[in-house]
Amino acid sequence: VERVDYSSLPRKDKDLIRKAANTRRRAAATYSNFLVGAAVRDENGAMHTGCNTENIAFTGPHAEEGAISMMIALGGSTVTAVAVVTTNGGPPCGNCRQHIWEFCEGNKEVPIYIVDTSGNTWKTTIGILLPYAFSFRKKSGK
Ligand SMILES: [Zn+2]
Repeated sequence: VERVDYSSLPRKDKDLIRKAANTRRRAAATYSNFLVGAAVRDENGAMHTGCNTENIAFTGPHAEEGAISMMIALGGSTVTAVAVVTTNGGPPCGNCRQHIWEFCEGNKEVPIYIVDTSGNTWKTTIGILLPYAFSFRKKSGK
């Protein structure tokens, strides 16, 4: 996970991070008070957002899951970039890493930006966050 300078990022990645940050403010983090915003870019360049949406049984979707659900609902199919904004710069949880991977079409280089609410920005990839993803298929050796 590499620290990057937000101001040096391509405009489309800054836009993705801004969308995630704005969506974070709408999070329904009633119980944890840990607001998370996420945005994904699809294969057509469209951006989709999500925020954590809690219920008292703690079964509500995470921000990343919400963003991917929005992508699918609006006709996208492949995640090409992800931004996640949290108070402390926390990375996607294990379940969300698997969920993101599911929609990356096998591309381990899909970038993931992790940003805290002070604007500190880190860049990694889904392949780094989830190096040995679950699959029903036998490992092919690649
Ligand atoms: Zn999660």
